[in-house]
Amino acid sequence: MAMNLAPARAAGLAALDDFVAAAGRRYTDTRNYDHGPGDRTNVSMLSRFLRYRLVTEAEVVAAVRREHSAAAAEKFLQEVLWRTYWKGWLEMRPSVWTRYRADLAGLKMQTGGWRAAYDRALAGNTGIDCFDAWIAELATHGYLHNHARMWFASIWIFTLRLPWQLGADLFYRQLFDGDPASNTLSWRWVAGLQTAGKTYLATRDNIARYTGGRFAPAGLATTATALTEAPTPPQALSPMMPATGRVGLLLGEDDCHAESLALGGARVTAVASATVADGRSAAVETFVANALTDARDRAAAHFAVAADALPALTTGAVRDWARRCDLTTVVVPYAPIGPTRTALDLVAAAIVTDGIALVPVRRAWDSAAWPAARRGYFAFREGAGTLIG
Ligand SMILES: Cc1cc2nc3c(=O)[nH]c(=O)nc-3n(C[C@H](O)[C@H](O)[C@H](O)COP(=O)(O)OP(=O)(O)OC[C@H]3O[C@@H](n4cnc5c(N)ncnc54)[C@H](O)[C@@H]3O)c2cc1C
Repeated sequence: MAMNLAPARAAGLAALDDFVAAAGRRYTDTRNYDHGPGDRTNVSMLSRFLRYRLVTEAEVVAAVRREHSAAAAEKFLQEVLWRTYWKGWLEMRPSVWTRYRADLAGLKMQTGGWRAAYDRALAGNTGIDCFDAWIAELATHGYLHNHARMWFASIWIFTLRLPWQLGADLFYRQLFDGDPASNTLSWRWVAGLQTAGKTYLATRDNIARYTGGRFAPAGLATTATALTEAPTPPQALSPMMPATGRVGLLLGEDDCHAESLALGGARVTAVASATVADGRSAAVETFVANALTDARDRAAAHFAVAADALPALTTGAVRDWARRCDLTTVVVPYAPIGPTRTALDLVAAAIVTDGIALVPVRRAWDSAAWPAARRGYFAFREGAGTLIG
């Protein structure tokens, strides 16, 4: 039976329910195999739900722990925690994101020596069979297996010698789970920037083995020299302010489960949602818009208030909504570093002059885990491991 991957919480919960029995031994033993788009039963396919928090990490961990011991499901639980790690790492180094976006904008204006190879790669016309197949799979399914993402990024950087930022951008625009932290930092990891000096080299044998012989590409790079940059030290996380009294709840794409936010003494009197169009494929932008509609409808029912869909996440749209609903406080689920956060920071700075406060609410999960993302993943797991434990 085909899995229902619709952009809605109900589909996410059903996918979790379908997968949970396989999260133990089966996942540990088989997760690295990419059987192709026709068979994804060895992985959870939960990323598009987790990315937008249609289903939260806490819910996935709780469901898995009801059926498996921490030891039996260790591999799967650790993968879930990688998402949290990447988010926390980027949160404490926002300049890595702004630098990436600036580099990307610069590259898109260039007509460098890489342009012809880039066009061939995008057209799926490199002659590297697996790579050309993954380009098509990305466009058709908006998903690639984790191992294929690693091979793809490695071939992009070390065989095709293309700028990693353009590859990260392609993934971000085409993956249904496209995520500023997991995607950008994984590309950096392959390039040797994330764990300084350590690169990931895709090999013919490894690809042949884990694709069950579907691919055995010739001519791949045999060395992978790490890119270099100056280290970016972590900065402190911003302190949270409590929200109280009558508030409006403004939903963005990063957290589509407002019902489980801890709102303390705040009383929600209005709900709205707003998207940030970000140049992603039409399929991804539609997926995100539908996820947010689902989130808004559930929140309106949960808080028993009216809901609005703002035309965009702009100062004018938020100001008009706040005035119409007579709000002086707008609560937003905390948006991690990425396009929604950038838009929200601009809105917050502008509407404060109208006497309207924008108050982010961070989940206990993130507040507990993110401070531990100061160094590498293994140190992080020491600090945040109790979340899955
Ligand atoms: C170059 C590259 C780019 C990537 N870009 C993204 C992205 O844009 N968005 C995204 O969500 N993931 C990204 N990943 C991570 C990972 O590939 C996907 O999360 C995973 O393949 C999604 O499939 P799944 O839900 O079936 O995963 P499963 O194997 O079933 O894992 C369960 C969950 O654990 C988390 N997870 C698993 N592996 C990772 C990982 N390596 N890093 C972070 N979280 C992980 C995801 O939330 C996933 O849903 C990227 C990895 C690489 C190497």
